[in-house]
Formats: sequence, C-alpha cells, structure tokens
Amino acid sequence: MTRTALAAATDTHCPYCALQCGMRLAPGRGRAAVEVLERPDFPVNRGALCGKGSSAPALLARDVRLTGPLLRDRPGGPLRSAGWPEALDTVAAGLARVREEHGPDAVGVFGGGGLTNEKAYLLGKFARVVLGTANIDYNGRFCMSSAAAAHRRAFGLDRGLPFPLDDIPHTGCLILVGGNPADTMPPAVRYLRELRENGGRLIVVDPRRTRTAELADLHLQPRPGGDLALALGLLHLVIADGLTDQDFIDARTTGFERARESAMAHWPDRVERITGVPVHQLREAAGMFGRAESGMVLTARGPEQQSKGTDTVGAWINLCLATGKSGRRYSGYGCLTGQGNGQGGREHGQKADQLPGYRSIEDPAARAHVAAVWGVAADSIPGPGRSAYELLDSLGRPDGVRALLLAGSNPVVSAPNAGHVTERLRALDLLVVADVVLSETARLADVVLPVTQWAEEDGTTTNLEGRVILRRRAVDPPEGVRGELWVLRELAARLGVPTGFPAEAEPAFEELRRASAGGDADYAGISYRRIADEDGVFWPCPTPDHPGTPRLFLERYATPDGRARFADVTHRPAAEEPDEAYPLYLTTGRVLAHYQSGAQTRRVAELNAAAPGPYVELHPRLAGRLGIADGEPVAVTSRRGRAVAPARITDAIRPDTVFMPFHWAGAGRANSLTNPALDPVSRMPEFKLCAVRVEPVRTEAAK
Ligand code: SF4
Repeated sequence: MTRTALAAATDTHCPYCALQCGMRLAPGRGRAAVEVLERPDFPVNRGALCGKGSSAPALLARDVRLTGPLLRDRPGGPLRSAGWPEALDTVAAGLARVREEHGPDAVGVFGGGGLTNEKAYLLGKFARVVLGTANIDYNGRFCMSSAAAAHRRAFGLDRGLPFPLDDIPHTGCLILVGGNPADTMPPAVRYLRELRENGGRLIVVDPRRTRTAELADLHLQPRPGGDLALALGLLHLVIADGLTDQDFIDARTTGFERARESAMAHWPDRVERITGVPVHQLREAAGMFGRAESGMVLTARGPEQQSKGTDTVGAWINLCLATGKSGRRYSGYGCLTGQGNGQGGREHGQKADQLPGYRSIEDPAARAHVAAVWGVAADSIPGPGRSAYELLDSLGRPDGVRALLLAGSNPVVSAPNAGHVTERLRALDLLVVADVVLSETARLADVVLPVTQWAEEDGTTTNLEGRVILRRRAVDPPEGVRGELWVLRELAARLGVPTGFPAEAEPAFEELRRASAGGDADYAGISYRRIADEDGVFWPCPTPDHPGTPRLFLERYATPDGRARFADVTHRPAAEEPDEAYPLYLTTGRVLAHYQSGAQTRRVAELNAAAPGPYVELHPRLAGRLGIADGEPVAVTSRRGRAVAPARITDAIRPDTVFMPFHWAGAGRANSLTNPALDPVSRMPEFKLCAVRVEPVRTEAAK
C-alpha cells in the first residue's frame, strides 16, 4: 500500500482528549502527510486547539511508529520483524492453546478509552463470542468509573455531561472539583471565561493552585481525599442557611432525609479539621452556590480516583439536588471525561459488566437482545469478569488470565502500582499488544501488531457531552499497518468464527446501532450521514427522525420512579493516610503538553521539548524543612515503590502534599507509587492520593 497524499481537506477530530476538538486536515507541505487547519464551524472548540491537537500530524511519521508486526521467539529473546500471516497465526494459536489448557477465562482482553466506538464494540463481541471469556475490561475503569457509578446511582443513567458545554456560560455558579481544564483541555477554558463575563461565579476545588484555579472567584484547597467531607460541609451550610429547594426535593427526588442527617453531622469546624479549608471559605462557597439562580457541579479525576470516589461524587450530586440545581436548564451535575472516547468507550461492551448500549451483562433481557444481534445463544454470553486492576493483578497466576490481548492502553506507565503490574505482565504465557507505537507495554509483548490511528481510519467517538462524532480517514496508513477491526476479523476467522466481524468502520457502526437499540445509550437513530450533517448527534437517539438529546433529565430522571436519588454517604479516610513512616500526601495528574501515558505525545518533538520529564512539586516550607533545593533530584517513596525526579518548588501546592505528573516511564514513573485500593462500587483505584516520604537523593544515598 502506498501512502497517498491528501487530495482535499477532510473534517475530523483530534486524536487525544474527551473534548474531541474539531479540526480540518489539509494536504501537508514538505514531508508532512497532513497539515492541521482550524475548523471554526465545529461548535465545541470553534477552531481552537491546544498544542497536542495542532501537533498531532507528527504521529503519522514513520519514524515514530510501528510499521510491521513484531514477534518474540522465546521468552526474554528479542522482538523480530514478522509478516502478518505469521503474526496472526501465532496469536490465534496461542490464544487457542491457553483457552484449551486453562479454560476461556484464562484468556483476557484489555481495551482503552481512546478506541473508537466501533473498536470498543467489536472488541467486546470478540471477547464474548470468539474467546468466550468473561475477562474483558479497559483503562477507562481507571479514568471516570466512579463518576459513572454515582451518575447511575443518582440518575439511573450515566452520560458525562447531561447538557452541552454551551450551557456552562449561562449558569449562575459553577463548582469545578478536582479538574484542571486549563492544562488538560485548554479550549474548554473559553466556557469558564464566558461564564465569568456573564456574571456567573466560579469556584475551583483543588489541592493545587492550578491555572484553572487562578481563574476562579474562590479557590478551595482541601487536603487530598477531603472533598467528600467538603461537599457534606457545604450541604450542611446550605441546609442551615435555608438555601435548599424544598419544592424540587419533594417533587423530583427521594432519600433527602438520610442525606440531610449525614450533612448535619459535618458541621463547619469539623469539616475545616478534616479538609483544611477554613470555615469562612466554606461559608462563602455555600452562599455563592446556594444563592445562585442556577448552578452546576463538574467533577474530574480528583474526587473520582479515590477508594471512596463513588460516594464523593454522590456527595456533590447531593448538593446539586438539595439546592434544586439539577433537572433544569443551566443546572446539573456533570463529569469532565478525560480520554478521547472515555464516554463511548464505556457504553458498548469493553467493560467487564456491560453489553452494548450501556446494558448490564447480568440483565436477562439485555443478554437476549444482544445475543439476537450477534446470532448466538443468550446463555453463551459470559457473565461479568474482573475489573481492570483485578484483571491485571491476576495475570500469570494459576487461576488468573494467562494470555492477554491488549489494545489502546499502556498499563506499564498508566496502571496504579505499576511496578507490580509490570511483573504480572511479564508472568503471562502470551502477551499480544496492538498499538500505533512501541509503547513500554508493547516492549514486553510476545507479539506486537501495528495498527492504524486517527487520520488513517474512519470511526466514531462520543465526546464528554455525549455527542457522537465522526473521525474521517484522511491519509493511507504506512504499508504494513492494519486497522484493529481487520485484525479482529482475521483472528476471529482463525479461531473458527468466519463472519460477524466487519473490517470497515461504518458496517460495524450499523451493527452497533442495532445492538444499542433500546439500551440506555441508544444509538439506533444515529448514522454517519447524520453525524456529518449535524456536527454530531447526542444520545439517546432511538430513531432516525429523533433529534438526539442534548439535555437529559429536564422532565424526569432515568430511574424507575423518575426521581433522582440522594446518596446516603458520610466522610471516611482514604485507604492510606500519611503516618510517621510516610508523612506526606502524594497526588498525581497531568501537564499541558502530554496525554495519558505519554506513549504518543512523548514522541512529538515540540511537546517533548515543552515538557521533557517528570518532576516533584513541593511547597517552599516543606522544601526548607527537608533541605531540598529547586531542581535537585528527590526520591519519593511509598509502600509500593520509589520514583526519582527533580524538585519543583512552588507555593501553589499545600505544604502537606507533593505532586507528580504521571506521563513518564522509568525512574520518574509516578505510578510506581500509587495505591491500587479500589472503590467498592466502581472498582476504580485510588490514583489520586497515597502516603509517601520525600528526601533528597544525596541524603538517601548517604544513609
Ligand atoms: S487534546 Fe483535547 S483540548 Fe487539545 S486539541 Fe485535542 S481534543 Fe482539543
């Protein structure tokens, strides 16, 4: 296959985050395959892009990516080039052997929140129909599953935002909890600025004074893990100050009494002691939100990536419900999803407990519907499997997964307790990685399959608003690279299922529409043509003449009685709080120039130059006490591992907390330290905080 130049401009979307900015690709100049142009007519970003999106064509270059399959002939041996027939035969034979020797659940699949809807859908079908395994999950479990669980518990339905981003500038008061869009999705900051220009108030909750916090009317800076108590404390104050909306509570909710009792046990002084947020700031925030005509709460990974993440998000939803700031225009709770297809990736069956259309895999009616679309018996579809971390922790164990097919994920960098996860990956009988680049995880694989990306393929994603959008193929991939759908079709055929796996995206989407019909995430009325004509379509959209649903819950919630449910939640400590041996909090996060594990962005020269490596952010008082100078290498140690990176001294962080970005592998890998303690409902690990000690490397070496 020759690499064709782009003949005309193609409208598509960014390969990275959940904003899914619209962009136009034009024929490139010089060696560049394509050039990124503004697409001002796309409503989400109106032409604006961050540096990640505008530099994305660099990912298409041959010298940064895989251009042919790789095979390892013996454990510990080198990877060598192979042809596709040999690679696919090796994978199929290996999967079949493990399945025969150890049973179908010994074969696992691990997907990603960046995969298109079509890939996520067919990956789930491949696991259940071809492999017969229950063990499929994906890295989205690490991303927003606590918000998803809280959403479903409160509203009966999980869509990141129940309203379009365009509603944000019209709300009276926005509380943004544990999110930093100024660094993670800069074009979205426009909505915050417009909110303030319109007279709305912005409250940011974050242990760090981020670039987003600097835009706020009020910045609350709680201890990591303090946000559940903080939300309860604010609810206490709005109740005490008579700022609740009793008519809304009576007409549209259930469970307020228990929520009220819990909130009353979180009086201001107690909440100040737990969170470190002064009482006067609590009162100011409660008044600002409670008195506003309309209001929104948006959460991101801060409150969600905790062992109490579902309850924490539930507490913030309680605040919205008690003040009547839900179920009406310009009000509501939403989650700022992170990964490019973090929304769609959790709707179509790559999650251990779900079938397409956001159906429960344990619901007999859902199983029957999906089985009919797949042409299999309902009782042949396995039940729920292990969640992401539990699946990774089981790798290579006698009762665990022995062969793993992994696509669109790099857990060697991005999983919690990453040193342990790396050991488990090494213990597999067979590791197969499909990726665009030779990521740190692909380097461990027995077989590496090079796959197409972004501008080289068609496919849909669903952005953080629930807007289904279309990425268009603009250039041919390099010779030797194949699409993941083609790979699944070839493997399915070799494993005895010759039909039902289209290699092209649009036929896969047509099947997905039927599989999702009648489910919560109903795509039945959405087509490629409609998406292109309408700048995306919001689900649910059950019929071709349905307009889509930009705003949810205006009339009723998706619960059986149509009412939103207050969560019965109370403060509890994190799974691991600082102590004598590990006296500081570690919190982790992102930087402007990089995306997720950095597997793509670390290969883009300008992004790498902007942010070449990890660092440890610490307060001047803490640095002074520990004798650490700015730029000096420091060792950060937790009960699980150690990381070394230069100190960055700033008063933007709390003195009891250090921060590390998590985009890098090697000695500075932040996830060597993080705690895999799981939320009991969402099974999301506690990435956002753990206990550490910090010391200069020179001191450590001298001991
Ligand atoms: S990374 Fe996100 S914010 Fe940046 S251009 Fe891409 S979609 Fe837009």
